Amino acid sequence: MRRPAITIVLFLSLGLLWGCFSPPSSNDKVKVTASIFPLADIAASVGGDWVEVQVLIPAGASPHVFEPTPEAFRQFAKTRLFVMVGAGLEFWAQELIAAVADETPAVVRAADGVQLIQMTAHQEEGSEPHLHDHGLGNPHVWLDPMVAISLAENIGQALMHLDPEHSQEYGEHLTTYQEQLRALDEHIRETAGQFRIKEYVAFHPAWSYFARRYGLVEVGVIQESPGREPTPKHLQSIIRTIQDHGIRAVFAEPQFNPSAASVLASEANVRVLILDPLGGPDLPGRDSYIGLMEYNLKMIREAME
Ligand SMILES: [Zn+2]
Repeated sequence: MRRPAITIVLFLSLGLLWGCFSPPSSNDKVKVTASIFPLADIAASVGGDWVEVQVLIPAGASPHVFEPTPEAFRQFAKTRLFVMVGAGLEFWAQELIAAVADETPAVVRAADGVQLIQMTAHQEEGSEPHLHDHGLGNPHVWLDPMVAISLAENIGQALMHLDPEHSQEYGEHLTTYQEQLRALDEHIRETAGQFRIKEYVAFHPAWSYFARRYGLVEVGVIQESPGREPTPKHLQSIIRTIQDHGIRAVFAEPQFNPSAASVLASEANVRVLILDPLGGPDLPGRDSYIGLMEYNLKMIREAME
């Protein structure tokens, strides 16, 4: 009579074990929404199997001109944690949050605690008021890996609060991921420290925080306001800057029309290299935040070493 009892006990413990180790079903996961892909990847790295992360701004689109679609409102409805940049980038976010007023998600912002770089008066001139909220400063904080480290920390804390049952896992993921981010920072610091040329011309002012962190200098911006084509006069002044600083390449970006950069490059006789501030899940090598930053470092190095 003992044997069936043992079998039942064994069966039950196997069941419990299976319950512990099987991946959670979609219903158990914490729904996380991020505005842009790099933030989504950081959230997924901290959350692991216990979160389901979605991105609002589709790959290839620019966050500066985004308008929430009905699909975005639908996606947002069950969100428990919203990860955004802040600093005015998501000028449309309040509308989404207000639409789910009965179950407002927790919000984590990458720009919190960052000393924002103000856009210069010249950059503000004639720009569309809803693009790059200049009153709040340059929003491209996520391209500084040290900002990613504190963002990961804040996402980890938020997840531990929302889903205390898996606190230990979130803590472990966080430790591992922050180590990887510190290695990334070290790699960029060492590489940039050896650049012969420290000055660069960007397509739009996306690399200001990266430059501040690693001792580089943005001497020109082709498109000073997103979506606004540069005037011939502005292009001429950038060509002079390129010649003055011995710059060998200008940076274009996949989210914007590269024609201005191409015209500039052929007139100044320099190359066009593509920097990508956003990446995406379907772009090999740029399908994680760390991969994306390594890709950009490689491009910057080609122009500046
Ligand atoms: Zn931008």
